[in-house]
Amino acid sequence: MPAMHLPLAQSNNLAVSTTDISLHSIMDHHHEPLSSGHIRTLLIIIGTTAAVIVLSSTIVFLLPIWKNTTECSDYCDHNIINSSTLPSKIQQIEADFIIIGGGTAGCIVSARLAEYGFQTLLISSGSNDTQNPLMREQASYKQLLHNTPHFKHYLPLSSSPNLNNRTLDVIVWNTLGGNSINGGGAQRLTENEWNYFINATGDSSFSKEAMSKYYKRTENYITTGPFSNLNLHGNNGPIKITQVYDSVFNQIWKNVANELNEPFTNDLADKIDYGFSFESSSFTNGIRSWSCDKYLSSTLNKYSNLKVLTSSTAIKFDINEQTKQVNSVLFISNDGLFNGIARKEYILSAGTFFSPHILMLSGIGDRKILQENNILVKHELKQVGKNLMDNGMINIKYQTQNFSIGQSIPMAVINSKTRTTNNNSDTFFRLKMNSNTKDLDIFIFNALPKSTVGFLSLHNSNPLMPPKITLDYFKDSNDLNIFINAIKYVRKVMSTDTLKQYANITEILPGLQEINLATYVRNTLNAAGHFSGTCAMGQNAENSVVDKYFKVHGISNLRVVDASVFPANFATKTGPYLTVHALAEKLVHILHETYL
Ligand SMILES: Cc1cc2nc3c(=O)[nH]c(=O)nc-3n(C[C@H](O)[C@H](O)[C@H](O)COP(=O)(O)OP(=O)(O)OC[C@H]3O[C@@H](n4cnc5c(N)ncnc54)[C@H](O)[C@@H]3O)c2cc1C
Repeated sequence: MPAMHLPLAQSNNLAVSTTDISLHSIMDHHHEPLSSGHIRTLLIIIGTTAAVIVLSSTIVFLLPIWKNTTECSDYCDHNIINSSTLPSKIQQIEADFIIIGGGTAGCIVSARLAEYGFQTLLISSGSNDTQNPLMREQASYKQLLHNTPHFKHYLPLSSSPNLNNRTLDVIVWNTLGGNSINGGGAQRLTENEWNYFINATGDSSFSKEAMSKYYKRTENYITTGPFSNLNLHGNNGPIKITQVYDSVFNQIWKNVANELNEPFTNDLADKIDYGFSFESSSFTNGIRSWSCDKYLSSTLNKYSNLKVLTSSTAIKFDINEQTKQVNSVLFISNDGLFNGIARKEYILSAGTFFSPHILMLSGIGDRKILQENNILVKHELKQVGKNLMDNGMINIKYQTQNFSIGQSIPMAVINSKTRTTNNNSDTFFRLKMNSNTKDLDIFIFNALPKSTVGFLSLHNSNPLMPPKITLDYFKDSNDLNIFINAIKYVRKVMSTDTLKQYANITEILPGLQEINLATYVRNTLNAAGHFSGTCAMGQNAENSVVDKYFKVHGISNLRVVDASVFPANFATKTGPYLTVHALAEKLVHILHETYL
């Protein structure tokens, strides 16, 4: 099905073309006799013009490379660069806050800041596809994952030695809403997981209890079960989250937990935050609820102070080396090259891969990487792009007869070797029925990775080339063992008396024939997509990128909020998605306190 796109400038201020915004060309203000001030200005203009010519020619030169690297096919029509509209001058746009990246976090921060009355500008590289049924409908998710390169950032990846030299498919959505277009799992972090934030920052405002209010701000929580957890969750927030309860399978899952001597909890956000339970999802009756739709689109007609520029790609920040302030952000759209100037602050929300990339292109990062790529070091921060974490995921399969889980999503967070306590749970798995084949898919995640899965650097200084991503799953062999033990554990679950009495279940994958589980894991592991940590939060510039206020260490007017700020050596057990919302809400609160 061809992608549907809202036309630019279609609604009051959503997806406006850059020319619709009141622009101040830096070339257009010179009619008076020349004073020394004017001469200085003129020199600046000549300098700027020269810089523009150099930059434009660089882009003209880079464009064919970019087009080749994107393997551009049907999506060139809404791609970010069109050689016929290459800029002859840099235009200027101002706002109180400029948010770079309209993904999960960026849409929340933009909408909330506009709600508080700030002039807010969101620039995002993807198009606005909010009304596209492919984005909204759960039934289309598989099709989206496998058949829609035009909605994705192109990421060239090298093969992974520990995965039998396979090249993984890493998906990063390039659409307004970003990686909110996901599997829908919407779990909170546990107390123990928030303790990683407290340890990294020394700040108890990251405790499970304190962060609960930010989850509540985002949640409109519904459970179809006969228990009430409304005081635990928010019910007035924009994002609808549903936990579906199936009365028959609920009892069965409880019995399975009991038989294996594991805890069962109705809600993992409650005191018992591990064991057997049911997943909460951002799909309700098959329709996705996500920040682009529920925070951003729904406020656009209300707030004329909110401008959203789609198909606009940030290239870099211009940093003043002396004052360590961002002067502007350079970005390119179909309407040309722009300098965005934030009167208050710049908020970077381009995600785990592109936030560190933009920092590196701006001269903020590891000196060695920057110098190797001929980028002037404006501010050294060694950890930019390091600490890439992901859970990794494998899929095992069962053939079933008379088996039903209804619409519910049974899941468990356990330790596959020892009895579980919440901080040593090393496995998260969830059950999904294939509605056509009636096969049961079990997705297993490493809930306690012992090592990072890689790091980011640069291919070269081409601002339009994606970052260089080195993936190295199973650097620590314990991470491989977690998956092997997890498969054995799931086999134990599937052969409990409870499940055997309930239905006929036969393992298809890895299968009953003698198969080396290590080989199966190495041959089938996929990225979970739960990438985090590349602009890690922490107390100092040696071991982190942002501080507890999300500020880039050493730069006064630049913050980062997205999954990249999760602390180093930490991966969520059940996925980062909902927590990115809570972090965005916390940053909004900090900005509110700072400026109002
Ligand atoms: C396939 C998949 C399935 C997942 N399933 C789950 C799940 O079930 N549960 C769970 O908890 N988590 C899941 N996740 C992870 C979760 O979705 C992400 O952690 C979360 O959405 C990240 O949000 P973010 O704000 O960090 O970045 P994103 O939402 O990715 O936003 C980044 C935005 O920045 C834009 N951008 C990038 N570069 C530029 C630039 N140069 N200029 C301007 N804009 C730019 C991008 O186009 C994008 O819109 C999944 C992820 C994927 C990919």
